[in-house]
Amino acid sequence: MATKYIFVTGGVTSSLGKGIISASLGKLLQARGYRVTNQKLDPYINVDPGTLNPYEHGECYVTVDGHEADLDLGHYERFLNVPSTKANNVTSGRIYQNVINRERRGDFLGKTVQVIPHITDEIKRNIKMLGNTGDFDFVITEIGGTVGDIESLPYIESVRQMRWELGKDCLCIHLTYVPFVAAAGELKTKPTQHSVKELQQEGVQPDVLVLRAEHPITPEVRKKVALFCNVDSEAVIESADVKTIYEVPIRMQQEGLDRVVLKRLGINPDDTVADMKQWNFFLDKLHNATEEVKIALVGKYVRLPDAYKSIIESLIHASAYNDRKLKLDLILSEEINDNNVSDILSGYQGILIAPGFGERGVDGKIIAARFARENNVPCLGICFGMQVMAIEFARDVLGYADAHTAEINPQTPHKIIDMMEDQKVVLDKGGSMRLGAFACRLLKNSKAAELYGKELIYERHRHRFEFNNQYKEEFEKNGMIVSGFNPETNLGEIIELKNHPWYIGVQFHPEYSSTVLNPHPLFLEFVKVATQHK
Ligand code: GLN
Repeated sequence: MATKYIFVTGGVTSSLGKGIISASLGKLLQARGYRVTNQKLDPYINVDPGTLNPYEHGECYVTVDGHEADLDLGHYERFLNVPSTKANNVTSGRIYQNVINRERRGDFLGKTVQVIPHITDEIKRNIKMLGNTGDFDFVITEIGGTVGDIESLPYIESVRQMRWELGKDCLCIHLTYVPFVAAAGELKTKPTQHSVKELQQEGVQPDVLVLRAEHPITPEVRKKVALFCNVDSEAVIESADVKTIYEVPIRMQQEGLDRVVLKRLGINPDDTVADMKQWNFFLDKLHNATEEVKIALVGKYVRLPDAYKSIIESLIHASAYNDRKLKLDLILSEEINDNNVSDILSGYQGILIAPGFGERGVDGKIIAARFARENNVPCLGICFGMQVMAIEFARDVLGYADAHTAEINPQTPHKIIDMMEDQKVVLDKGGSMRLGAFACRLLKNSKAAELYGKELIYERHRHRFEFNNQYKEEFEKNGMIVSGFNPETNLGEIIELKNHPWYIGVQFHPEYSSTVLNPHPLFLEFVKVATQHK
Protein backbone atom coordinates (compact mmCIF):
# COMPACT_ATOMS: atom_id res chain seq x y z
CA MET A 1 0.00 0.00 0.00
CA ALA A 2 1.29 3.48 -0.88
CA THR A 3 2.01 5.55 2.20
CA LYS A 4 -0.96 7.68 3.20
CA TYR A 5 -0.40 11.19 4.51
CA ILE A 6 -2.72 12.60 7.14
CA PHE A 7 -2.50 16.22 8.22
CA VAL A 8 -3.87 17.60 11.46
CA THR A 9 -4.42 21.35 11.64
CA GLY A 10 -5.95 23.43 14.39
CA GLY A 11 -8.33 26.37 14.36
CA VAL A 12 -9.95 28.96 16.67
CA THR A 13 -7.42 28.68 19.48
CA SER A 14 -4.33 26.81 20.54
CA SER A 15 -4.28 24.22 23.35
CA LEU A 16 -7.17 22.17 21.97
CA GLY A 17 -5.11 18.99 22.13
CA LYS A 18 -4.01 18.50 18.53
CA GLY A 19 -1.08 16.43 19.75
CA ILE A 20 -3.34 14.06 21.67
CA ILE A 21 -5.81 13.73 18.79
CA SER A 22 -2.94 12.99 16.40
CA ALA A 23 -1.41 10.46 18.78
CA SER A 24 -4.84 8.86 19.40
CA LEU A 25 -5.48 8.42 15.70
CA GLY A 26 -1.97 7.00 15.36
CA LYS A 27 -2.70 4.55 18.16
CA LEU A 28 -5.99 3.39 16.64
CA LEU A 29 -4.44 2.81 13.22
CA GLN A 30 -1.50 1.03 14.81
CA ALA A 31 -3.91 -1.12 16.83
CA ARG A 32 -5.41 -2.20 13.51
CA GLY A 33 -2.02 -3.52 12.49
CA TYR A 34 -0.81 -0.61 10.36
CA ARG A 35 2.65 0.90 10.65
CA VAL A 36 2.26 4.49 11.76
CA THR A 37 4.47 7.43 12.58
CA ASN A 38 3.50 10.83 13.97
CA GLN A 39 5.31 13.99 12.98
CA LYS A 40 5.15 17.54 14.33
CA LEU A 41 5.90 20.64 12.29
CA ASP A 42 6.53 23.72 14.40
CA PRO A 43 6.23 27.09 12.68
CA TYR A 44 8.59 28.96 15.00
CA ILE A 45 12.03 30.19 13.93
CA ASN A 46 14.13 28.42 16.57
CA VAL A 47 16.08 25.66 14.84
CA ASP A 48 14.97 23.31 17.61
CA PRO A 49 13.36 23.83 21.03
CA GLY A 50 16.63 23.07 22.86
CA THR A 51 17.32 26.69 23.73
CA LEU A 52 13.74 27.49 24.79
CA ASN A 53 12.82 28.15 28.39
CA PRO A 54 10.38 25.42 29.51
CA TYR A 55 7.89 28.18 30.30
CA GLU A 56 7.62 28.85 26.55
CA HIS A 57 6.40 25.51 25.19
CA GLY A 58 6.80 23.14 28.12
CA GLU A 59 9.51 20.54 28.42
CA CYS A 60 12.10 19.85 25.80
CA TYR A 61 11.78 16.22 24.73
CA VAL A 62 14.80 14.25 23.57
CA THR A 63 14.73 11.52 20.93
CA VAL A 64 16.93 8.43 20.96
CA ASP A 65 19.07 9.92 18.19
CA GLY A 66 19.75 12.99 20.30
CA HIS A 67 17.35 15.53 18.85
CA GLU A 68 15.86 18.15 21.16
CA ALA A 69 12.20 18.10 20.25
CA ASP A 70 8.72 19.41 20.93
CA LEU A 71 6.88 17.75 23.81
CA ASP A 72 4.24 16.39 21.45
CA LEU A 73 6.79 13.77 20.40
CA GLY A 74 6.52 12.53 23.97
CA HIS A 75 2.79 11.97 23.51
CA TYR A 76 3.43 10.15 20.25
CA GLU A 77 5.95 7.82 21.87
CA ARG A 78 3.86 7.24 24.99
CA PHE A 79 0.85 6.36 22.84
CA LEU A 80 2.51 4.42 20.02
CA ASN A 81 5.33 2.85 21.99
CA VAL A 82 7.69 3.45 19.07
CA PRO A 83 10.75 5.69 19.41
CA SER A 84 10.83 8.76 17.17
CA THR A 85 13.80 10.46 15.55
CA LYS A 86 14.97 13.85 14.39
CA ALA A 87 12.75 13.47 11.31
CA ASN A 88 9.63 13.49 13.48
CA ASN A 89 9.97 17.13 14.51
CA VAL A 90 10.84 19.96 12.15
CA THR A 91 10.73 23.71 12.83
CA SER A 92 10.65 26.66 10.43
CA GLY A 93 14.10 27.49 11.72
CA ARG A 94 15.43 24.19 10.42
CA ILE A 95 13.54 24.46 7.13
CA TYR A 96 14.96 27.95 6.49
CA GLN A 97 18.42 26.93 7.65
CA ASN A 98 18.48 24.04 5.17
CA VAL A 99 17.28 26.24 2.31
CA ILE A 100 19.72 29.05 3.15
CA ASN A 101 22.63 26.62 3.41
CA ARG A 102 21.80 25.30 -0.04
CA GLU A 103 21.49 28.83 -1.38
CA ARG A 104 24.97 29.63 -0.05
CA ARG A 105 26.32 26.52 -1.71
CA GLY A 106 24.90 27.71 -5.00
CA ASP A 107 22.43 24.85 -5.34
CA PHE A 108 19.72 27.09 -6.77
CA LEU A 109 21.80 28.05 -9.81
CA GLY A 110 21.20 31.77 -9.67
CA LYS A 111 17.45 31.57 -9.13
CA THR A 112 15.60 33.84 -6.70
CA VAL A 113 14.95 31.76 -3.58
CA GLN A 114 11.35 32.15 -2.43
CA VAL A 115 8.81 30.85 0.08
CA ILE A 116 7.01 29.17 -2.81
CA PRO A 117 8.45 26.92 -4.14
CA HIS A 118 11.70 26.65 -2.17
CA ILE A 119 10.47 26.74 1.42
CA THR A 120 7.36 24.73 0.60
CA ASP A 121 9.47 22.17 -1.30
CA GLU A 122 11.71 21.79 1.75
CA ILE A 123 8.65 21.35 3.99
CA LYS A 124 7.25 18.69 1.66
CA ARG A 125 10.63 16.96 1.48
CA ASN A 126 10.67 16.73 5.27
CA ILE A 127 7.17 15.25 5.33
CA LYS A 128 7.77 12.75 2.54
CA MET A 129 11.11 11.74 4.01
CA LEU A 130 9.22 9.64 6.57
CA GLY A 131 7.00 8.02 3.95
CA ASN A 132 9.95 7.37 1.64
CA THR A 133 11.63 5.15 4.22
CA GLY A 134 9.05 2.53 3.30
CA ASP A 135 8.61 1.88 7.02
CA PHE A 136 5.15 3.38 7.37
CA ASP A 137 1.66 2.92 6.01
CA PHE A 138 0.56 6.20 7.57
CA VAL A 139 2.43 9.42 8.25
CA ILE A 140 0.37 11.66 10.51
CA THR A 141 1.70 15.21 10.42
CA GLU A 142 0.52 17.72 12.97
CA ILE A 143 0.94 21.37 12.02
CA GLY A 144 1.71 23.46 15.09
CA GLY A 145 0.00 26.79 15.72
CA THR A 146 -3.44 27.89 14.57
CA VAL A 147 -4.74 28.31 11.04
CA GLY A 148 -4.60 31.99 10.14
CA ASP A 149 -1.24 32.58 11.79
CA ILE A 150 1.21 34.26 9.44
CA GLU A 151 3.93 31.78 10.27
CA SER A 152 1.88 28.71 9.48
CA LEU A 153 1.01 29.85 5.94
CA PRO A 154 3.86 28.00 4.16
CA TYR A 155 2.82 24.82 5.95
CA ILE A 156 -0.82 25.04 4.92
CA GLU A 157 0.35 25.80 1.38
CA SER A 158 2.48 22.65 1.49
CA VAL A 159 -0.55 20.66 2.64
CA ARG A 160 -2.53 22.11 -0.27
CA GLN A 161 0.15 21.07 -2.72
CA MET A 162 0.48 17.58 -1.27
CA ARG A 163 -3.26 17.01 -1.46
CA TRP A 164 -3.16 18.09 -5.08
CA GLU A 165 -0.21 15.80 -5.83
CA LEU A 166 -1.36 12.75 -3.86
CA GLY A 167 -5.12 12.91 -4.29
CA LYS A 168 -6.72 10.00 -2.48
CA ASP A 169 -3.58 9.17 -0.51
CA CYS A 170 -3.84 12.37 1.50
CA LEU A 171 -6.31 13.62 4.05
CA CYS A 172 -6.79 16.67 6.24
CA ILE A 173 -8.25 16.71 9.73
CA HIS A 174 -9.09 20.07 11.25
CA LEU A 175 -9.51 20.43 15.00
CA THR A 176 -11.65 23.33 16.19
CA TYR A 177 -13.46 24.56 19.25
CA VAL A 178 -17.21 24.79 19.82
CA PRO A 179 -17.82 27.09 22.77
CA PHE A 180 -20.89 26.91 24.95
CA VAL A 181 -22.37 30.35 25.58
CA ALA A 182 -24.01 30.00 28.96
CA ALA A 183 -26.21 33.09 28.66
CA ALA A 184 -27.79 31.69 25.50
CA GLY A 185 -27.59 28.09 26.71
CA GLU A 186 -26.17 27.17 23.31
CA LEU A 187 -23.19 25.64 21.57
CA LYS A 188 -21.81 28.07 19.02
CA THR A 189 -20.49 26.88 15.67
CA LYS A 190 -19.48 30.25 14.24
CA PRO A 191 -15.81 30.08 15.31
CA THR A 192 -15.59 26.68 13.60
CA GLN A 193 -17.18 28.03 10.43
CA HIS A 194 -14.72 30.91 10.38
CA SER A 195 -11.71 28.75 10.92
CA VAL A 196 -12.75 26.33 8.16
CA LYS A 197 -13.27 29.34 5.86
CA GLU A 198 -9.78 30.49 6.71
CA LEU A 199 -8.43 27.08 5.77
CA GLN A 200 -10.45 27.07 2.54
CA GLN A 201 -9.09 30.50 1.67
CA GLU A 202 -5.65 29.00 1.92
CA GLY A 203 -6.77 26.30 -0.48
CA VAL A 204 -7.44 23.39 1.85
CA GLN A 205 -10.85 21.77 2.34
CA PRO A 206 -10.77 19.62 5.49
CA ASP A 207 -12.09 16.06 5.13
CA VAL A 208 -12.72 15.50 8.82
CA LEU A 209 -13.57 17.96 11.57
CA VAL A 210 -12.87 17.22 15.20
CA LEU A 211 -14.86 19.49 17.47
CA ARG A 212 -13.52 20.11 20.91
CA ALA A 213 -16.42 20.97 23.20
CA GLU A 214 -17.14 21.14 26.89
CA HIS A 215 -20.79 20.22 26.26
CA PRO A 216 -22.09 17.30 24.18
CA ILE A 217 -22.46 18.10 20.49
CA THR A 218 -26.13 17.67 19.54
CA PRO A 219 -27.16 16.08 16.22
CA GLU A 220 -28.35 19.53 15.07
CA VAL A 221 -24.97 21.09 15.74
CA ARG A 222 -23.29 18.23 13.91
CA LYS A 223 -25.57 18.70 10.90
CA LYS A 224 -25.07 22.43 10.88
CA VAL A 225 -21.29 22.17 10.99
CA ALA A 226 -21.35 19.54 8.23
CA LEU A 227 -23.51 21.72 6.00
CA PHE A 228 -21.57 24.94 6.50
CA CYS A 229 -18.15 23.35 6.25
CA ASN A 230 -18.67 20.92 3.33
CA VAL A 231 -18.03 17.71 5.26
CA ASP A 232 -20.21 14.64 5.83
CA SER A 233 -22.01 14.39 9.15
CA GLU A 234 -20.14 11.18 9.95
CA ALA A 235 -16.89 13.09 9.47
CA VAL A 236 -17.81 15.50 12.24
CA ILE A 237 -16.21 14.02 15.33
CA GLU A 238 -16.84 15.15 18.88
CA SER A 239 -13.91 15.48 21.25
CA ALA A 240 -15.43 15.97 24.68
CA ASP A 241 -13.43 16.78 27.79
CA VAL A 242 -12.21 13.62 29.48
CA LYS A 243 -10.61 12.90 32.82
CA THR A 244 -7.33 11.74 31.34
CA ILE A 245 -5.65 12.02 27.96
CA TYR A 246 -5.40 8.24 27.88
CA GLU A 247 -9.16 8.03 27.37
CA VAL A 248 -8.98 10.01 24.15
CA PRO A 249 -8.08 7.08 21.83
CA ILE A 250 -11.06 5.14 23.18
CA ARG A 251 -13.37 8.13 22.72
CA MET A 252 -12.07 8.62 19.20
CA GLN A 253 -12.69 4.96 18.53
CA GLN A 254 -16.27 5.30 19.79
CA GLU A 255 -16.73 8.37 17.62
CA GLY A 256 -15.42 6.42 14.63
CA LEU A 257 -12.47 8.67 13.80
CA ASP A 258 -10.31 5.79 12.56
CA ARG A 259 -13.16 4.38 10.45
CA VAL A 260 -13.87 7.71 8.75
CA VAL A 261 -10.19 8.27 8.09
CA LEU A 262 -9.74 4.82 6.55
CA LYS A 263 -12.87 5.18 4.41
CA ARG A 264 -11.75 8.56 3.09
CA LEU A 265 -8.41 7.05 2.18
CA GLY A 266 -10.10 4.28 0.22
CA ILE A 267 -9.42 1.53 2.77
CA ASN A 268 -12.23 -0.66 4.02
CA PRO A 269 -12.46 -0.13 7.81
CA ASP A 270 -14.13 -3.54 8.17
CA ASP A 271 -10.96 -5.27 7.00
CA THR A 272 -9.26 -4.69 10.35
CA VAL A 273 -10.24 -4.28 14.00
CA ALA A 274 -8.42 -1.98 16.41
CA ASP A 275 -7.19 -4.18 19.23
CA MET A 276 -7.12 -1.92 22.28
CA LYS A 277 -7.06 -4.71 24.91
CA GLN A 278 -3.72 -3.78 26.44
CA TRP A 279 -4.60 -0.10 26.34
CA ASN A 280 -7.89 -0.76 28.11
CA PHE A 281 -6.10 -2.90 30.68
CA PHE A 282 -4.01 0.16 31.59
CA LEU A 283 -7.03 2.43 31.50
CA ASP A 284 -8.95 0.16 33.88
CA LYS A 285 -6.04 0.20 36.30
CA LEU A 286 -5.85 3.97 36.02
CA HIS A 287 -9.56 4.39 36.71
CA ASN A 288 -9.97 1.75 39.37
CA ALA A 289 -7.10 2.68 41.67
CA THR A 290 -8.46 4.30 44.80
CA GLU A 291 -5.62 4.15 47.28
CA GLU A 292 -3.32 7.13 46.89
CA VAL A 293 0.42 7.36 46.61
CA LYS A 294 1.68 10.80 47.61
CA ILE A 295 4.66 12.05 45.66
CA ALA A 296 6.41 15.43 45.76
CA LEU A 297 8.13 16.70 42.64
CA VAL A 298 10.68 19.33 43.64
CA GLY A 299 11.58 21.61 40.75
CA LYS A 300 11.83 25.18 39.62
CA TYR A 301 9.32 25.33 36.74
CA VAL A 302 6.32 24.25 38.76
CA ARG A 303 4.04 27.05 37.55
CA LEU A 304 3.70 25.24 34.23
CA PRO A 305 3.22 21.50 34.75
CA ASP A 306 3.98 20.98 31.01
CA ALA A 307 7.58 21.76 31.92
CA TYR A 308 7.65 18.33 33.58
CA LYS A 309 5.28 16.60 31.16
CA SER A 310 7.19 13.35 30.67
CA ILE A 311 8.01 12.96 34.37
CA ILE A 312 4.39 13.45 35.33
CA GLU A 313 3.17 10.99 32.69
CA SER A 314 5.79 8.44 33.78
CA LEU A 315 4.55 8.73 37.35
CA ILE A 316 0.98 8.29 36.12
CA HIS A 317 1.95 5.09 34.27
CA ALA A 318 3.89 3.74 37.25
CA SER A 319 1.14 4.54 39.75
CA ALA A 320 -1.56 2.90 37.65
CA TYR A 321 0.50 -0.28 37.25
CA ASN A 322 1.05 -0.26 41.02
CA ASP A 323 -2.74 0.06 41.47
CA ARG A 324 -2.36 3.44 43.08
CA LYS A 325 -3.91 6.78 42.36
CA LEU A 326 -1.20 9.39 41.93
CA LYS A 327 -1.40 12.33 44.28
CA LEU A 328 1.34 14.54 42.95
CA ASP A 329 2.35 17.93 44.29
CA LEU A 330 4.71 20.16 42.38
CA ILE A 331 6.88 22.00 44.87
CA LEU A 332 8.86 25.11 44.08
CA SER A 333 12.44 24.40 45.15
CA GLU A 334 13.15 28.09 45.78
CA GLU A 335 10.69 28.06 48.64
CA ILE A 336 12.39 25.25 50.52
CA ASN A 337 14.84 26.18 53.27
CA ASP A 338 16.30 24.46 56.33
CA ASN A 339 13.53 25.74 58.58
CA ASN A 340 10.51 24.77 56.52
CA VAL A 341 11.67 21.64 54.73
CA SER A 342 10.13 19.30 57.24
CA ASP A 343 6.78 21.14 57.11
CA ILE A 344 6.79 21.12 53.33
CA LEU A 345 7.99 17.57 52.65
CA SER A 346 6.67 15.51 55.57
CA GLY A 347 3.83 13.26 54.58
CA TYR A 348 5.10 12.42 51.11
CA GLN A 349 5.86 8.80 50.35
CA GLY A 350 8.33 9.65 47.65
CA ILE A 351 10.36 12.69 46.62
CA LEU A 352 11.44 13.27 43.05
CA ILE A 353 14.14 15.84 42.43
CA ALA A 354 13.70 17.30 38.99
CA PRO A 355 16.18 18.02 36.20
CA GLY A 356 17.13 21.62 35.56
CA PHE A 357 19.69 24.18 34.57
CA GLY A 358 21.17 27.15 36.39
CA GLU A 359 21.34 28.42 39.91
CA ARG A 360 17.80 29.36 40.80
CA GLY A 361 16.25 26.93 43.25
CA VAL A 362 19.29 24.68 43.56
CA ASP A 363 19.69 25.22 47.32
CA GLY A 364 16.11 24.08 47.91
CA LYS A 365 16.78 20.95 45.88
CA ILE A 366 19.87 20.18 47.96
CA ILE A 367 17.86 20.61 51.16
CA ALA A 368 15.10 18.36 49.79
CA ALA A 369 17.69 15.68 48.94
CA ARG A 370 19.07 15.87 52.46
CA PHE A 371 15.60 15.57 53.92
CA ALA A 372 14.92 12.43 51.87
CA ARG A 373 18.30 10.91 52.72
CA GLU A 374 18.08 11.56 56.46
CA ASN A 375 14.45 10.54 56.80
CA ASN A 376 14.59 7.40 54.68
CA VAL A 377 12.06 8.75 52.19
CA PRO A 378 12.27 7.02 48.78
CA CYS A 379 13.92 9.50 46.47
CA LEU A 380 14.58 9.61 42.74
CA GLY A 381 16.90 12.28 41.37
CA ILE A 382 16.86 12.87 37.64
CA CYS A 383 19.81 14.51 35.88
CA PHE A 384 20.31 17.76 37.83
CA GLY A 385 18.43 15.96 40.60
CA MET A 386 21.10 13.24 40.62
CA GLN A 387 23.84 15.87 40.59
CA VAL A 388 22.19 17.58 43.56
CA MET A 389 22.12 14.26 45.46
CA ALA A 390 25.84 13.88 44.87
CA ILE A 391 26.58 17.45 46.00
CA GLU A 392 24.49 17.02 49.13
CA PHE A 393 26.26 13.76 49.97
CA ALA A 394 29.69 15.35 49.48
CA ARG A 395 28.76 18.26 51.70
CA ASP A 396 27.07 16.47 54.51
CA VAL A 397 28.57 13.01 54.59
CA LEU A 398 32.07 13.62 53.22
CA GLY A 399 32.33 17.00 54.92
CA TYR A 400 33.14 19.16 51.88
CA ALA A 401 31.05 22.17 52.78
CA ASP A 402 31.97 23.89 49.52
CA ALA A 403 31.11 20.95 47.26
CA HIS A 404 29.22 22.03 44.17
CA THR A 405 28.76 21.64 40.45
CA ALA A 406 31.04 23.59 38.12
CA GLU A 407 27.88 24.86 36.45
CA ILE A 408 27.09 27.00 39.48
CA ASN A 409 30.35 27.42 41.34
CA PRO A 410 33.26 27.00 38.92
CA GLN A 411 35.66 28.32 41.60
CA THR A 412 35.07 25.64 44.19
CA PRO A 413 37.96 23.24 44.88
CA HIS A 414 35.41 20.44 45.25
CA LYS A 415 33.72 20.10 41.90
CA ILE A 416 31.69 17.00 42.53
CA ILE A 417 29.98 17.62 39.22
CA ASP A 418 32.20 18.93 36.47
CA MET A 419 32.59 19.32 32.77
CA MET A 420 34.76 16.67 31.16
CA GLU A 421 37.94 17.84 29.45
CA ASP A 422 36.90 17.04 25.88
CA GLN A 423 33.63 18.94 26.33
CA LYS A 424 35.27 22.16 27.39
CA VAL A 425 36.36 22.99 23.86
CA VAL A 426 32.82 22.99 22.53
CA LEU A 427 31.59 26.48 23.18
CA ASP A 428 28.44 26.65 21.06
CA LYS A 429 25.45 26.38 23.36
CA GLY A 430 23.07 23.64 22.33
CA GLY A 431 26.01 21.88 20.70
CA SER A 432 27.88 21.06 23.85
CA MET A 433 25.45 18.72 25.52
CA ARG A 434 25.46 14.97 25.80
CA LEU A 435 22.26 14.24 23.92
CA GLY A 436 20.38 11.09 23.03
CA ALA A 437 20.67 7.46 24.05
CA PHE A 438 23.90 6.10 25.53
CA ALA A 439 24.78 2.70 26.91
CA CYS A 440 25.00 2.20 30.64
CA ARG A 441 26.38 -0.88 32.35
CA LEU A 442 24.83 -1.79 35.67
CA LEU A 443 26.70 -3.07 38.65
CA LYS A 444 25.77 -6.64 39.62
CA ASN A 445 23.74 -6.89 42.81
CA SER A 446 22.88 -3.21 42.76
CA LYS A 447 19.30 -1.99 43.11
CA ALA A 448 19.59 -0.62 39.58
CA ALA A 449 20.56 -3.99 38.09
CA GLU A 450 17.80 -5.67 40.00
CA LEU A 451 15.05 -3.33 38.93
CA TYR A 452 16.08 -3.27 35.28
CA GLY A 453 16.57 -7.01 35.27
CA LYS A 454 19.55 -6.71 32.91
CA GLU A 455 23.13 -5.51 32.83
CA LEU A 456 23.24 -3.23 29.83
CA ILE A 457 20.68 -0.51 29.29
CA TYR A 458 20.29 2.46 26.94
CA GLU A 459 18.93 5.71 28.28
CA ARG A 460 18.55 9.22 26.90
CA HIS A 461 20.69 12.11 28.07
CA ARG A 462 20.50 15.88 27.98
CA HIS A 463 23.15 17.57 30.07
CA ARG A 464 26.55 19.21 30.00
CA PHE A 465 28.03 18.24 33.34
CA GLU A 466 29.02 14.85 34.75
CA PHE A 467 29.75 13.11 38.01
CA ASN A 468 33.43 13.67 38.78
CA ASN A 469 35.04 10.22 39.01
CA GLN A 470 37.82 11.57 41.24
CA TYR A 471 35.33 11.29 44.08
CA LYS A 472 34.02 7.85 43.17
CA GLU A 473 36.12 5.91 45.63
CA GLU A 474 35.39 8.22 48.53
CA PHE A 475 31.69 8.13 47.73
CA GLU A 476 31.68 4.34 47.62
CA LYS A 477 33.62 3.95 50.84
CA ASN A 478 30.96 6.04 52.53
CA GLY A 479 27.97 4.17 51.17
CA MET A 480 27.06 5.93 47.94
CA ILE A 481 27.87 3.62 45.04
CA VAL A 482 28.08 4.29 41.34
CA SER A 483 25.81 1.50 40.18
CA GLY A 484 25.68 2.42 36.50
CA PHE A 485 28.45 3.70 34.25
CA ASN A 486 29.08 4.30 30.57
CA PRO A 487 31.10 1.34 29.28
CA GLU A 488 33.16 3.49 26.88
CA THR A 489 33.88 6.62 28.90
CA ASN A 490 33.40 5.25 32.39
CA LEU A 491 31.21 8.25 33.23
CA GLY A 492 29.00 7.65 36.26
CA GLU A 493 25.36 7.34 35.22
CA ILE A 494 23.61 6.07 38.34
CA ILE A 495 24.32 6.59 42.01
CA GLU A 496 22.56 4.78 44.82
CA LEU A 497 22.79 4.94 48.54
CA LYS A 498 23.25 1.83 50.61
CA ASN A 499 21.51 1.76 53.98
CA HIS A 500 18.53 3.64 52.65
CA PRO A 501 15.23 2.14 51.47
CA TRP A 502 15.58 3.70 48.01
CA TYR A 503 17.76 6.66 47.15
CA ILE A 504 18.73 6.61 43.48
CA GLY A 505 20.00 9.34 41.19
CA VAL A 506 20.28 8.93 37.44
CA GLN A 507 22.28 11.16 35.13
CA PHE A 508 19.94 10.30 32.25
CA HIS A 509 16.26 10.94 31.65
CA PRO A 510 14.19 7.77 32.14
CA GLU A 511 11.00 9.82 31.74
CA TYR A 512 11.47 10.08 27.98
CA SER A 513 10.98 6.38 27.53
CA SER A 514 8.06 5.45 29.74
CA THR A 515 5.04 4.49 27.64
CA VAL A 516 1.54 3.24 28.34
CA LEU A 517 2.41 -0.27 27.23
CA ASN A 518 5.96 -0.15 28.59
CA PRO A 519 6.08 1.74 31.87
CA HIS A 520 9.65 2.56 32.89
CA PRO A 521 11.16 0.20 35.51
CA LEU A 522 12.76 3.05 37.50
CA PHE A 523 9.43 4.79 37.94
CA LEU A 524 7.63 1.50 38.60
CA GLU A 525 10.06 0.66 41.37
CA PHE A 526 10.18 4.18 42.80
CA VAL A 527 6.39 4.26 43.11
CA LYS A 528 6.35 0.71 44.47
CA VAL A 529 8.71 1.51 47.32
CA ALA A 530 6.87 4.77 47.89
CA THR A 531 3.65 2.81 48.47
CA GLN A 532 5.49 0.94 51.24
CA HIS A 533 6.65 4.17 52.91
CA LYS A 534 4.29 5.29 55.63
N1 GLN B 1 22.32 21.42 34.39
C1 GLN B 1 22.79 20.10 34.44
C2 GLN B 1 23.78 19.80 33.33
O1 GLN B 1 23.85 20.49 32.35
C3 GLN B 1 21.65 19.10 34.42
C4 GLN B 1 20.82 19.14 33.18
C5 GLN B 1 19.48 18.45 33.32
O2 GLN B 1 18.98 18.28 34.43
N2 GLN B 1 18.87 18.08 32.22
O3 GLN B 1 24.54 18.87 33.42
